[in-house]
Amino acid sequence: MGRYAVGIDIGRTNLRAALVRSNGELVASIKEGTDALGGPQGVERQVARAFERLARGHDVRAVGVGIAGQCDTARGVVLHGPNLFWPDVPFRDRLSDVLGVPVVLRNDVVMATIGEWRHGAGRDCHDIVVLFSGTGIGGGAIVNGTLLEGASGCGGHFGHVSVQLDGPPCGCGRRGCVEAYASGTGLASRAKNDPSLPSSSLSLVGEIDGRAISRAVEEGDAMAVRLRDEAALALSSAIGSVINCLEPQRVVLGGSVMDMPGLYEMCAAGALEHCLPSHRRALIVRSALGEMAGAIGAASLALDPI
Ligand SMILES: [Zn+2]
Repeated sequence: MGRYAVGIDIGRTNLRAALVRSNGELVASIKEGTDALGGPQGVERQVARAFERLARGHDVRAVGVGIAGQCDTARGVVLHGPNLFWPDVPFRDRLSDVLGVPVVLRNDVVMATIGEWRHGAGRDCHDIVVLFSGTGIGGGAIVNGTLLEGASGCGGHFGHVSVQLDGPPCGCGRRGCVEAYASGTGLASRAKNDPSLPSSSLSLVGEIDGRAISRAVEEGDAMAVRLRDEAALALSSAIGSVINCLEPQRVVLGGSVMDMPGLYEMCAAGALEHCLPSHRRALIVRSALGEMAGAIGAASLALDPI
């Protein structure tokens, strides 16, 4: 039979929920748009509906929730997040009351890190770095066989590694973070402000986002290809810096932006060029769990604490 948990991955754009067995097997899943405008109550209702659908007929012992933003692990609150920003809402405890089971709350890519480490591309490793690029860029790390948490559970935000001191503005208020170059939001903002936009096929697109840029790269659009190349360079530099700091065995790359044609391959080669010669044994690999990494990791942490 095994033990079951439900893992919920609340991204800025999509909410994914999964019923997961203790061996990491994905039994069933749900994906829908995140009701970010509904605030914590809206998302709470969404999570409750997903839980009810997935848990029906199974002995679900716990729920893990990963959320885009910075979480205070001890208090169970979401401190900062572009769309999901509820610093005074005891989100974890409220969810636990509504669902009637214990809830663990962490950053979404921290949950993906746990998923990849226990059941995916980082299995059998004691030192891994995980970086996912989607709407934003998140990160996480396993160091010496345990999760890198930092003083309050906010460690691992590799998306805000600066790669250019006077670079484009980032959502965090600083300039030149890798997220400003290589996240879906960063790429879209750069495309919209690019002087070459009028001669790009993207000028004909209603809403420029990461997916539209990806399609334009596939069609060989010169501006989109240049933005992809700059994103690859920024990612390579940031990943190289993280490798220098943590010396991981593996670096796991994932997220929807990584599916952009050529981007992963350029990062895999470029990151090792940007790190110290002594650190080049690190293996760069693609996420094995894909878009369900966060939900699987969240369920796994709920069942088996680190
Ligand atoms: Zn930043």
